[in-house]
Amino acid sequence: MAPSAPALVKIPRRGLMLVISSPSGAGKSTIARTLMDKDQQIGLSVSVTTRPRRQSEIEGVHYKFVSQREFERLRDSDSLLEWAQVHGNYYGTPREAVETAMGEGRDMLFDIDWQGAQQLQEKMSADVVSIFILPPTMAELQSRLHRRAEDSEEVIQTRLNNSRAEIAHWREYDYVIVNDDLNAAFDAVQSIVKAERLRRDRRHGLFDFVEGLIA
Ligand code: 5GP
Repeated sequence: MAPSAPALVKIPRRGLMLVISSPSGAGKSTIARTLMDKDQQIGLSVSVTTRPRRQSEIEGVHYKFVSQREFERLRDSDSLLEWAQVHGNYYGTPREAVETAMGEGRDMLFDIDWQGAQQLQEKMSADVVSIFILPPTMAELQSRLHRRAEDSEEVIQTRLNNSRAEIAHWREYDYVIVNDDLNAAFDAVQSIVKAERLRRDRRHGLFDFVEGLIA
């Protein structure tokens, strides 16, 4: 087959809000990071949290780490698009970055829990595409949490105990992926993004394009 010519026709579309949730240790953050590396069209929504920073985390890259007081100030001044308490800490999505990205038709990725997913779905359902990542077994989830070795045993136990409650929300998502192979799970996420970008109702530029085509 001859190599295809670079696409010259660019049809404007709305940005999509890609929400990925899973219990802790199911591989969601690895998938999210790989997507950010490979797909230049999507930006990451960096959350604020009151959780202590892990050694491998960078301020402003993985999270903006804030005090309880600062979190309450942001929440009470309506600066958070959604927020939730997860595993005993507070997490929230800063509103401004999302509204700017959506206004410019850019895509955004949200690594947030089911409570956050619900709130975004309620507020911006037309733009939200949600994916839930499941572990292949609970034993695998447990061993992944231990392998990460960045949390104390107590924190790991809290997360394991909470994982069943998180998984119970799987039906609220548009897509569900079982992560028994990271490459396959990532391919599935990429396929979803590719197809969702082509949805007719997201591509407001199609109207002018087709009108011009048949004029
Ligand atoms: P972790 O402490 O492992 O980074 O995150 C714990 C959980 O909080 C994960 O399920 C993660 O997706 C979720 N989370 C991270 N940021 C946010 C946020 O801004 N809002 C909500 N609702 N959940 C978040």
